[in-house]
Amino acid sequence: MTGVAESTVSFHSLFAQELPELSVPWQAEEAPEPRLLVLNEALAGELGLEPAFLRSPGGTKFLVGNEVPQDAAPVAMAYAGHQFGGYSPLLGDGRALLLGELSLHGRTPGGLRDVHLKGSGRTPFARAGDGRAVVGPMLREYLVSEAMHALGIPTTRSLAVVATGRPVRRETMLPGAVLVRVAASHLRVGTFQYARATDNIDLLRRLADHAIARHYPAAGKAGNPYLALFRSVVEAQASLVAQWMLVGFVHGVMNTDNMTISGETIDYGPCAFMDTFNPAAVYSSIDTGGRYAYANQPVVAEWNLARLAESLLPLIDEDQERAVEPAVAALGEFRRRYSDAWTAGMSAKLGLRGHPEGSPEAEEVSRLVDGVIALLKDGPVDYTRFFRSLGEAARGNTRAARGMVLDLAAFDAWAERWRAMGPDAALMDGVNPVYIPRNHLVEEALAAATAGDLAPFRRLVAVLSEPYKGRPGLERYEEGAPESFGDYLTFCGT
Ligand code: AMP
Ligand code: MG
Repeated sequence: MTGVAESTVSFHSLFAQELPELSVPWQAEEAPEPRLLVLNEALAGELGLEPAFLRSPGGTKFLVGNEVPQDAAPVAMAYAGHQFGGYSPLLGDGRALLLGELSLHGRTPGGLRDVHLKGSGRTPFARAGDGRAVVGPMLREYLVSEAMHALGIPTTRSLAVVATGRPVRRETMLPGAVLVRVAASHLRVGTFQYARATDNIDLLRRLADHAIARHYPAAGKAGNPYLALFRSVVEAQASLVAQWMLVGFVHGVMNTDNMTISGETIDYGPCAFMDTFNPAAVYSSIDTGGRYAYANQPVVAEWNLARLAESLLPLIDEDQERAVEPAVAALGEFRRRYSDAWTAGMSAKLGLRGHPEGSPEAEEVSRLVDGVIALLKDGPVDYTRFFRSLGEAARGNTRAARGMVLDLAAFDAWAERWRAMGPDAALMDGVNPVYIPRNHLVEEALAAATAGDLAPFRRLVAVLSEPYKGRPGLERYEEGAPESFGDYLTFCGT
């Protein structure tokens, strides 16, 4: 097989066809010397793409958008968004292209997966940007998104990173790359904000119908499908953000253009996993006010969903006044859903099963959850290691967990009540990861990769692909950052 023309890749262009107002047909910039850095063979298989083809020169050209299958019609997608609370009426794919959709395991439309290139050159939405992306940050997105997937958290996936062979100007000159991202869709809250702002209700309705068909077909059968769509997104995001919180993930830039309708995590920029538990944890160099700090994430998600509700009002009821009440009620569900998901997730992290709401057992579980958070807040405790070592404690060996907290008397009192509830250690080991993409490990792997050695990156990807299973010989991947690592900040100029 030599080129994409001979391959069996068959693209849909559902988004481009159904929503031409949101699509600008566009082409990727020529990559002078494309070189495949990493390929996700398992994901390729799910999409019906031949790894042997993708590794060939023709396949690599396909992955950077320089050889486009005949049936594909790449587009840059339009969207708006609130960035750090300020509204930008036009953002869009400034450096990205949607190649089209592939059917996952032959299923449509719920089984469609967007294939999307990030770093493929300037588009009409590029504004002052150069349209490019850099090897380090694209490998970072690959690594963290695949780690999230392995943790069982909904996320966009990463199919490949290809170095373009072109140096890119940042603070210094850095090697350029394209990330090939796969997603249930790239519909964002900001896509709805953009469609709403056009005042074209037909467009807004087509967008909502497209979202329903792809993500929430059951909503299409509801009495008010658009209200049901909104409810579904509220539910999906409440569950998603709870899962972030449970693993200590800080997204870093929860702008409305970085929040999906599908409920997948998207846009791994200045994101990070907490080492030490800290509600105020912020890793983005530009988030000086802490808007997107760890503990703010549920509140921000709710704020973003309010922007989605505003965009959907004309569809929820022709009479906008009448639309407000059900929309507000649906938004109000976020807190309950989030809190239920958080409590259920924390109970599982503590090895405790669900109990009927309001029962004395449920109340004790809830006190134990509050108690463990108080212990974590009290001292510098490594969030991930602490929960994993509680699994040991459930088996009777409290030494490791106890050794991590400052207030031993408080720990002992808490642990006694907790053990009285009969925590299930096996349940805990299935939800408390051993391996997370720790910042110092990520940086180490990216620095080596940028210098040309991909071995540490590949090793880390492999370690993170099975996060819940401790393996001998991988002890250094469990450990917190060495003190020399200092305070961690990531930068948005990706
Ligand atoms: P992000 O922070 O990655 O979510 O991007 C926010 C907006 O900036 C989106 O509209 C991107 O397409 C755009 N953007 C980010 N980096 C670049 C770049 N290097 N060139 C053009 N547009 C960019
Ligand atoms: Mg974005």
